[in-house]
Amino acid sequence: MTAVIRQPIGRFAPSPTGPLHFGSLVTALASFLNIKARGGLWLVRMEDLDPPREVPGAQSEILTQLAAHGLVSDRVVLKQSESIERYEAALQRLIDQAQIYACDCPRKRFVSHYPGYCRDRGLALESVHQHALRFRIQAPRISLKDGHLGNHVWHPNENLGDFIVKRRDQLIAYQLAVVVDDIYQGVTEVVRGADLLDSTPYQLALYQALSEPPPQFWHFPVVLGSDGSKLSKQTGAPAVEDHQAIQNLNRALEFLGQATLNSQDIPSLLESAITAWDPRRVPRLLGRT
Ligand SMILES: [Zn+2]
Repeated sequence: MTAVIRQPIGRFAPSPTGPLHFGSLVTALASFLNIKARGGLWLVRMEDLDPPREVPGAQSEILTQLAAHGLVSDRVVLKQSESIERYEAALQRLIDQAQIYACDCPRKRFVSHYPGYCRDRGLALESVHQHALRFRIQAPRISLKDGHLGNHVWHPNENLGDFIVKRRDQLIAYQLAVVVDDIYQGVTEVVRGADLLDSTPYQLALYQALSEPPPQFWHFPVVLGSDGSKLSKQTGAPAVEDHQAIQNLNRALEFLGQATLNSQDIPSLLESAITAWDPRRVPRLLGRT
């Protein structure tokens, strides 16, 4: 048997809902160092599928901030809003495989996982009533070997349910878009915040249904604010200041359990950080700034 050697490709995929804050800088830097340490490519992708949430100007602001910190995509920045045809094609493939059903349940009815009420109701996939479309999970369990957190197992009806791939408002759901993008871009590893660990089994199910190998996942701690909640644009986390890029990068390195560096310029700082990068030193628990 010959194994196909794939070029290591990592990515950072911000939503343009505001400028880059310290928490997203940490994720960007971690994904950059982890792939660069193995000579791979680092890609930036804009998750701009939700127009009402998008802040005008945020896309270019984020790219400018990343560049000020020496973080530049090795390929053209892909935008989800320009990838709709690819998502629809993948959705059609899943429909052809009978993996998809329509659901008209009110979304707020389910706190955690969806118990499959509409599985066997046979609602029309195309109708004037614009139902949501769900993916039918058939695997008895879904397991993950996370690069950072180790083994995780999810079981349908315990902590896993059929999930939405196309929303009632006809927007493609995050889980499907992100998997189609990562397949399209040849992404071999996904470094992201541990707050996204719960979305991983859904993505693994989609990889399996689309007959593609999943990337290696690494779920790193997310940066918490002083109130203990995740730093986010929605809660008004401040934008990182470009003129303090060296301090910001050192603060991010420190958060990731790495040694801080004395370099006076950004390229040499990143160079040293790549050489010294050791993911085993990243803390396992959520971190506070
Ligand atoms: Zn339903």
